[in-house]
Amino acid sequence: MKPGIHPRYQRATVQCACGNNFVTRSTVPVIHVEVCGKCHPYFTGRQKLMDTAGRVERFRQKYRGGAGGAGAAGAAGAAGADKAAG
Ligand SMILES: [Zn+2]
Repeated sequence: MKPGIHPRYQRATVQCACGNNFVTRSTVPVIHVEVCGKCHPYFTGRQKLMDTAGRVERFRQKYRGGAGGAGAAGAAGAAGADKAAG
């Protein structure tokens, strides 16, 4: 490595909104996250909307009572993907 141009790669504490903390390494000393492996619905198995801006609700309203089965299945799949990603 060329000296003097690389950021310091140091111990970093990750603090989640759920209260979980863990240590990793990063160029910043503290990382704040909203969701982690301890509280994400994908890992907990619990239904929990990560959405705070009401986007999931608007999506459901938009596609509720739509053109039929295919549309409903598509909406359910997209909602599931949204939860997994969020
Ligand atoms: Zn968490």
